[in-house]
Amino acid sequence: MRARRAPAARVTRAIRARGDAGTRARDVAPGATRRGASATPRATRRPSARETRPELYGLDASWDPLTSGDRRESEESRTPLPETLPNVRWGTSASEAYDLVIVGCGPAGLTAADEASKRGLRVALMDPSPLAPWMNNYGVWCDEFKSLGFDDCYRAVWNKARVIIDDGDADGKMLDRAYAQVDRKKLKQKLIARSVTQGVEFGIAAVDSCDNSDPNHSVVTLSDGRKVYAKMVLDATGHSRKLVDFDRDFTPGYQAAFGIVCTVEKHDFPLDTMLFMDWRDEHLSPEFKRANDRLPTFLYAMPFSETEVFLEETSLVARPGLEFDDLKLKLKERLDYLGVKVTKVHEEEYCLIPMGGVLPTFPQRTLGIGGTAGMVHPSTGFMVAKTMLCVRTLVGTLDEALKAGKRGDITGALEAAEAAQMNNGKFDADATAALVWNSIWPENDLRMRTFMCFGMETLMQLDIDGTRQFFDTFFDLPKDVWAGFLSWRIQPVGLLSLGVNLFALFSNYMRVNFVKSALPFMGSFFAN
Ligand SMILES: Cc1cc2nc3c(=O)[nH]c(=O)nc-3n(C[C@H](O)[C@H](O)[C@H](O)COP(=O)(O)OP(=O)(O)OC[C@H]3O[C@@H](n4cnc5c(N)ncnc54)[C@H](O)[C@@H]3O)c2cc1C
Repeated sequence: MRARRAPAARVTRAIRARGDAGTRARDVAPGATRRGASATPRATRRPSARETRPELYGLDASWDPLTSGDRRESEESRTPLPETLPNVRWGTSASEAYDLVIVGCGPAGLTAADEASKRGLRVALMDPSPLAPWMNNYGVWCDEFKSLGFDDCYRAVWNKARVIIDDGDADGKMLDRAYAQVDRKKLKQKLIARSVTQGVEFGIAAVDSCDNSDPNHSVVTLSDGRKVYAKMVLDATGHSRKLVDFDRDFTPGYQAAFGIVCTVEKHDFPLDTMLFMDWRDEHLSPEFKRANDRLPTFLYAMPFSETEVFLEETSLVARPGLEFDDLKLKLKERLDYLGVKVTKVHEEEYCLIPMGGVLPTFPQRTLGIGGTAGMVHPSTGFMVAKTMLCVRTLVGTLDEALKAGKRGDITGALEAAEAAQMNNGKFDADATAALVWNSIWPENDLRMRTFMCFGMETLMQLDIDGTRQFFDTFFDLPKDVWAGFLSWRIQPVGLLSLGVNLFALFSNYMRVNFVKSALPFMGSFFAN
């Protein structure tokens, strides 16, 4: 049996390490709002109904989340993965260079292969195991995934999501936005089937290095010694960031979660609602309760049927990340409290996502997408939908530049054509790379990311009461604001309005933390 002192000891270590990393201590400020002792009754702190302006947050005013979760089946998503893939045959010299070599066959790399080959680019994708199943349980908001054309790749859909702030209100807040668990097998099948049909070739090997010394092409070296020529190379190796350079090292925050897909005797989660966050903690044993005051965790749950459910104990963000053993024990205590008896575990998920931190060096010759390009949402850890959307922009810009180079004129996308012509009429890989990086990280998005990193730092400052107050306030904001923030669709004016709204609704303790966290970000926010 585990020693009960272990969790507190580990958490103490984590807090010390946090101090070592140079971040601020998370002491509760005098006057901090406590549950049940709030000077202002909660009802009066909630925003009244007010006019919202969806266009400020990039949302379509006619958007209806409840109709966005239809589950069409497409031919490709039902096509089983092939046993073999077409091998790289091209790319043996500069004159036979691929238009694009993609490194990594995760969601980012494979979506890029699909999109680029659909546009007629000559594409190779390198990965030691391109047919290996994806292991992560991806959750997405349905409106995001539908707009990408992948709404035939859901395992399950919930019309609503729930957030439970504290033990005083077990019903919590209902979020009127449909959510889905991605059927990762179907999604991969669909993308592989389309890529193969569209002519993508695969190198079954890891990439060791990439030589960018020639201005017109790059040479990728595989672990088996083969060399492959490409006009452009896209690093999609996730958080291992094999090829993309970063200006400096950084200490990210970490989202840590332990989850299980399991059969239970019974549960009380309504089947039409997923549980986005449950911050209740009165059930915890004293040591975990104390640890939870400083490093809070929540339950994320997706009920598939009366007896099948995905349950995950999650630390939204902490530096360093929480330990999996603690998360497991906290999940167990929570399930005991909820009367959920697990009879079979089908799958365990160990989730550790680096969040925030510096972006890659801009521009650089090697392109990046997904984890290699800083696309994890710094306040939530979500990335799949944002990445898939950015793939379109990236490939579109690259395609324009390549076509302009081939035509030898400057019709069409003027900028791209000029870039492609800069090197004495030859394709200019450096100029093209600069264009592509600018297209996937335009100034507005950089500003948004700065704000989100600030959100992440704020969250790391907060104890359980502050965290509750933050989400209580955040999810009471108009839907277009919180949904826009969670989906990277909020425009600068929307961001400012979000900041001002939160500030107005916060207690003084929260305001102090808000300002403390904001100061380091002000320079880059306004510079962007
Ligand atoms: C457990 C977990 C759960 C998550 N859940 C969600 C979620 O619900 N929603 C969400 O939006 N995000 C989620 N994320 C975050 C993020 O979306 C995922 O990490 C996502 O898998 C990142 O996609 P990617 O394609 O960038 O990288 P990866 O999925 O990590 O794929 C990288 C690929 O690169 C290959 N590779 C690595 N090195 C080399 C090399 N040298 N040469 C060739 N190939 C190489 C690997 O084999 C792999 O196939 C989750 C992350 C984790 C870890």
